[in-house]
Amino acid sequence: MISQNMKKLIEKSAGISALFTEAKKMKEQYGAENVYDFGIGNPNVKAPESINKTAIEILQQEDTIILHGYTDTAGYAEVRKKIANHLNRRFDTNFDEENIIMTVGAAGGLNVIFKVLLNPGEEVLTFAPFFSEYTAYAMNAGAVLRAVPPNLETFLPDLTALEQSITKKTKIVLINSPNNPTGVVYDESIIAEIGCILEEKQKEYGTDIYLIADEPYRELVYDGAEVPYVPDYYKNTIVAYSFSKSLSLPGDRIGYLVLPSQLEDYDEIKQGAEVATRVLGFVNAPALQQKVVAECCDELTDVAFYDGNRELLYTALQSYGYQCIKPQGAFYLFVKALEEDDEAFCQKAKQYRLLLTPAIGFGCPGYVRIAYCVSRETIEKSLPAFEALAKSYQ
Ligand code: PLP
Repeated sequence: MISQNMKKLIEKSAGISALFTEAKKMKEQYGAENVYDFGIGNPNVKAPESINKTAIEILQQEDTIILHGYTDTAGYAEVRKKIANHLNRRFDTNFDEENIIMTVGAAGGLNVIFKVLLNPGEEVLTFAPFFSEYTAYAMNAGAVLRAVPPNLETFLPDLTALEQSITKKTKIVLINSPNNPTGVVYDESIIAEIGCILEEKQKEYGTDIYLIADEPYRELVYDGAEVPYVPDYYKNTIVAYSFSKSLSLPGDRIGYLVLPSQLEDYDEIKQGAEVATRVLGFVNAPALQQKVVAECCDELTDVAFYDGNRELLYTALQSYGYQCIKPQGAFYLFVKALEEDDEAFCQKAKQYRLLLTPAIGFGCPGYVRIAYCVSRETIEKSLPAFEALAKSYQ
């Protein structure tokens, strides 16, 4: 008999699994090119050329016994040093290898840091809508995810509600900007205000509250939007970064955590992150990919391509009458469903071969997410389907 927790997770995943199965069936039936799959955030842009080139060079040049061996649980020291230097150049910080833990993507990083910080019953507070996996990550650490309700006008954080939602049990406040699923970017005033609120609440309750910035989309921004470097605004900040989107490497499972030395209990957190990496079964981040990203971390995916997709889809959907804010980052549009039940709306969209994700799992029912990290052709071909879907509700 499987565990009660796993039963709950399977039930929760049922919708997503059904979506996958149905998408596969539809592609077999109609041909993949005739199904408009906006379901998941799997980048359609190729990884930069330097990725394969570097990987091949490393494979040819290095001792393969060492290369395929275990690395330090934190990752290769020289890799962490290169990542620290890269961050120092970009953000004028003062990190060294002791501030970096290589991780199995942002997902691995979040699970590691949750394991380090959370006691059973403690809470992770985030803003709805949020990346749906957060709920399970908190559960993995025996903790609970709570969400501050969404601001449906702007999808920016409601800071009054944040202040009211923090309790003695709040150990982590988790933010994600540029955001999945809305594409909003938090500006400096928002980050600074979150920092002030957390400082005050730490004092009020005599607790440590860690701000975790989940940043897989940091570089994917449009119209000159800036993403403030969160550790500059609040002492107890930890960054979870990933190369899944910025270098189109989601299957290679590589990212890192930034643990600034200024953190309360830094030494224990650092040690804990190494132990958590091991005991969660990651052992270390993929060895070859550590070396590859250390060489290629200054590279960037084709942001202009995503921007072109964004403009095309956003403008078209507006003209068909869909309601949606214009995203400033990531590669998602967050659109109001044309009926109250977002799952029913997604079912109806399938009749037009449109695969969308209902937002109920993101803590924001009544909306759907459209992942526009697809080919330009898919977007172009999908537009008549979006138009027909909108007309069917008129
Ligand atoms: N956090 C957010 C907000 C995401 O959107 C994703 C993936 O889509 C992740 C974390 C996990 O990313 P990774 O592939 O780096 O584990």
